[in-house]
Amino acid sequence: MKNILCIVAFFAVSNAFSQEAYSKTMKLMGSRFDISVVANSKEKGEAFISIAQEEITRIEKLISSWDENSQTALINNQAGIKPVQVDAELFQLIERALKISKLTSGAFDISYASMDKIWKFDGSMTTMPSEEIIKQSVDKVGYQNILLDHKEQTVFLKRKGMKIGFGAIGKGYAADKAKVLLQSKGVHSGIINASGDLNAWGKQPNNKDWMVAIVNPLNKDKVFSWLPVHNQSVVTSGNYEKYVTLNGELYSHIIDPRTGYPSKGILSVSIFTKSAELADALATSVFVMGVEVGLDFINQLKDVECIIVDGDNTIITSNHIELKQNKHD
Ligand code: ADP
Ligand code: MG
Repeated sequence: MKNILCIVAFFAVSNAFSQEAYSKTMKLMGSRFDISVVANSKEKGEAFISIAQEEITRIEKLISSWDENSQTALINNQAGIKPVQVDAELFQLIERALKISKLTSGAFDISYASMDKIWKFDGSMTTMPSEEIIKQSVDKVGYQNILLDHKEQTVFLKRKGMKIGFGAIGKGYAADKAKVLLQSKGVHSGIINASGDLNAWGKQPNNKDWMVAIVNPLNKDKVFSWLPVHNQSVVTSGNYEKYVTLNGELYSHIIDPRTGYPSKGILSVSIFTKSAELADALATSVFVMGVEVGLDFINQLKDVECIIVDGDNTIITSNHIELKQNKHD
């Protein structure tokens, strides 16, 4: 679960046309997914949920850098050696990721991934890496060295040892794709919730908007505020889930690609926008940029809003978000 938790409320589950919300929780892409759809029978609801599940599994196979048979792993294996031809879908995802890197001046960078040899968030890391090693690792990071050839549809990582990974954008992308697929099958309302990264469309069976709770990162039982989500995504990046404590200090799993050090100063960032992929990437970006730069950046983007919880657990919102209860309890 994220430190700002997005709890989805089912206030009422059925209406006059016996439309009901059906939900299922499953583990996909190494994370908890809660898939909810509104349908007029249990059979249909379950069938729709299976369709979404298959779609997310398909995407995982394509983009996982852990799965050595994925096209992403192939790109990484051929770093510094040769370009690799990939599916249009993966090519375009990388192309969009590069656009976000440019937009964020490199705060977001899928080539952060070579640093996972140094920063490990699975409990195996016990000592602080040396400055020298961190410096060296930054040499292998840099979106400018991800070369795309449109004609050949190839991806080439220029430097040996370079690696890409979709940890900061993949769940959002999968949520978008699952939603679009379900919509194409006639599902006009639902939520794909990937551990708090969610994409909601349509309304609840009682015709009310879906609601998300913004929860106090330091006490998940306390709700800061409830917000309606109407055909929108809400994605949160936080430092409470995955982190390592070294010499009494907490290091988050979001790394500044420009320094090689984990980001500091923010407890969590929630982004509100149409696409979950964009929201996912921007949440990670703001985390790296820090409160001031991040907030200013989001305020310049159209139809994108954010809620930042800073290191002191104070809530800061972008220009067009109003929280009913702006003080934390
Ligand atoms: P979560 O995984 O909790 O949803 P994010 O969407 O912010 O959080 O993704 C964090 C993950 O993204 C990290 O675990 C890592 O795999 C990857 N990552 C870390 N730093 C960066 C970065 N600066 N740019 C792109 N990806 C990153
Ligand atoms: Mg992200």
